[in-house]
Order: sequence, then C-alpha cells, then structure tokens
Amino acid sequence: MRRALVAANWKMHGSKALVDELVDRLVAGLGQGLNAVDIAICPPAPYLQQVQELARGSELLLGAQNVHGENSGAFTGEVSAAMLADFDVRFVLVGHSERRNLFAEDDLLVARKFAAVSGQGQIPVLCVGESLQEREAGQAETVVQEQLEAVLAHCGVGAFADAVIAYEPVWAIGTGRTASPEQAQAMHASIRGILAQHDKELAEKTRIVYGGSVKADNAAQLFAQADIDGGLIGGASLDATAFIQICNSVS
Ligand code: PEP
Repeated sequence: MRRALVAANWKMHGSKALVDELVDRLVAGLGQGLNAVDIAICPPAPYLQQVQELARGSELLLGAQNVHGENSGAFTGEVSAAMLADFDVRFVLVGHSERRNLFAEDDLLVARKFAAVSGQGQIPVLCVGESLQEREAGQAETVVQEQLEAVLAHCGVGAFADAVIAYEPVWAIGTGRTASPEQAQAMHASIRGILAQHDKELAEKTRIVYGGSVKADNAAQLFAQADIDGGLIGGASLDATAFIQICNSVS
C-alpha cells in the first residue's frame, strides 16, 4: 500500500504576511491525524525557515522547489541539498517543466540534482511530462520514458527507493486544462511499467503523483485512479480552502 503525497508548489509567489496566513490555516486544517497522506509545502527558498517554524509540531512536511547538484562551491545564487537539510526539507522538486523550459535544465542536470537530493537522504520528486505538441504527435510516452531513463541511467534504480515521480503534462500546468483521469492513469501505469523493467518490487512501492491544474473539483477523480498516488499542486495550493479540500480528496 503506497502512502499518498500531496505537495504544494507555491512557485515564485508569497510574502512574509501571506506565508503566515496560509501556513496558519493549513496547520489548523491539516496539521494533525494525517493517517493516509503526506502533505508537503514547497515555498520559495527565502520562506523555508518561516514555514519550518510555523509548521513545527504539526505533521506538515517541508519541500523545496529547486536545488543545485553540488553540495557547496562557487555557484553564486544557488542553494544546495545540504543547506536545505538544515531546514528539515524532506522533499525536493527536480526537473519541473518550468526549470526545464525557462532555465534550460536538461536531463543530465536533472539527474545530477536528483543524485544530490538522494545523497542527503531527502526525497527527490522527479517531474516528467510531455508538451502539447509531443502529445499531439503521439510521442507522450516516449518523451516521459526518455526523461525517466536518463535519471535511471545516471543514478541507478536503487536511487529511486524513496523517490517520488510527478507526472506533469506541460500542457496542463497552470493552464486550467487537466489531463483526464484516464489519460493520467494511462501515463502513470506506463511509468510504473518502465520502473518495473528495472525493479518490479520497487515499482510497486514508488509513489507517482499527478500535477497539472488539479483543483478541488477534479482531485478526487484523479486520486481515485489505481496508479495515481496523490498530486503536485501549483495554483490551487495558494488558496488554503482549496488546498485543504484537495488533500481531503485522497481516499
Ligand atoms: C505545478 O506547478 O507543478 C503545477 C502542477 O501547477 P498547476 O497546479 O498550477 O497547474
């Protein structure tokens, strides 16, 4: 039985005041008794400590949106996995499509980040997903397979022991257009099948979450699919009421 994960990706949104209000409401609404689900908040890096302090004593977990592949060095402006560990960061997103597309992160860089995160004992959340053009050309599964195999080749299947995979079709991120439960389930089953070719037992245990315009009114149907183990939530995670409803949609 895989434990569900719902992770909030706040992207580059927020302020000290908003973080205070949002986390207070999330702690009140979700902070205790989470028997079936892990809930992680990935704020922008400057607010990690604030979220850590506000969430202390609750069951909410901390995540980060990005990381550098090295643990220290002359990399101006970057943040390492070791630094994230100082703030009890448990989950780190790697390979989000906004990083791949807007910051030219390629598969090798994503794999290095994945390795750095696992190396600190944190949980990498490897984001994979195809563009609309790729889906329309019938290449969705191949594209996702290539993204996944690149990390498997660099890090080895063992590095996936605790990892999470987030299937996020690029055409669904921030667009209000969601993959249908059937489309998402088909891709999740395909991802699990690829993992199974490397390690059957591990594939059954690996959490694969869906991201792409998940909202309070479509979460339950998506999360009810056999291979969907929760969600990565962008826009809707900035609304406490909506995010709480999404978390409560995990059955
Ligand atoms: C995301 O940023 O990972 C995401 C899924 O965003 P949204 O929910 O806004 O589509």
